[in-house]
Amino acid sequence: MNQRKPFMAGNWKMNLNREESVALVTAIAEEAPDPERVDVLVAPPFTSIATVREAIGNKPIFLAAQNMHWESQGAYTGEVSPTMLLEVGCTHVILGHSERRSLFGETDGMIDRKANSACNFGLTPIVCIGESLEEREQERTSEVIAAQLQGSLRSFRRQKVLPPVVIVAYEPVWAIGTGKTATPEQAQEVHNQIRQWLAAQFDGNTAEKVRILYGGSVKPDNVKELMSMPDVDGALVGGASLKASSFLPILRFYL
Ligand code: PEP
Repeated sequence: MNQRKPFMAGNWKMNLNREESVALVTAIAEEAPDPERVDVLVAPPFTSIATVREAIGNKPIFLAAQNMHWESQGAYTGEVSPTMLLEVGCTHVILGHSERRSLFGETDGMIDRKANSACNFGLTPIVCIGESLEEREQERTSEVIAAQLQGSLRSFRRQKVLPPVVIVAYEPVWAIGTGKTATPEQAQEVHNQIRQWLAAQFDGNTAEKVRILYGGSVKPDNVKELMSMPDVDGALVGGASLKASSFLPILRFYL
């Protein structure tokens, strides 16, 4: 049995106003599972982060932004820095989500700079990777995943050290928001490949500690099966994290 505590993250994307965000996080905080058993995180839009932080109070819920710039300040119109995220109470930051990659042109190189900067400033990055449907159909999943890992974690590779708090999220693009989930076996196969890659690039101890989340249409009725896989350490949940009625059963997957 591995020592990795399950990690369940809700990515709210560009949804919920501040009032709705407070209502949702309050409902999650009231019913959230034992923090000894599961780590819980929410990622609201930038404009709700401070309000959600206040609503969390001293409840054990981690808070993430959905993106950030790698610099701490400067002439980067429209961007938000790691220090700004820390100031409003973020502990984590989601980086390289497939929507950032495909809709906003983020590259592995940018994600690498962001992930490295996040760690330097004391934020935990959740680095997202995943193949498209076309790449899967062409049986290029392993190659695409390896290339994304190489590029997005390049600075850590150069330093030969990956802080084991870093989280990797495997999100097959064809499963995000589509209702199509990877089977537990498909998820396990890629998660295992990611862990082997981490062991080869860093060391076995790091690979054993890094948590690898699955994302892509995770719902209350498929979470248990996915979480039964040895290398699936948690979930990054989009649509189903927007309502307490669907997110809470996901957080309590082990019951
Ligand atoms: C996501 O956006 O990270 C995601 C996995 O979305 P969904 O759960 O809606 O597929």
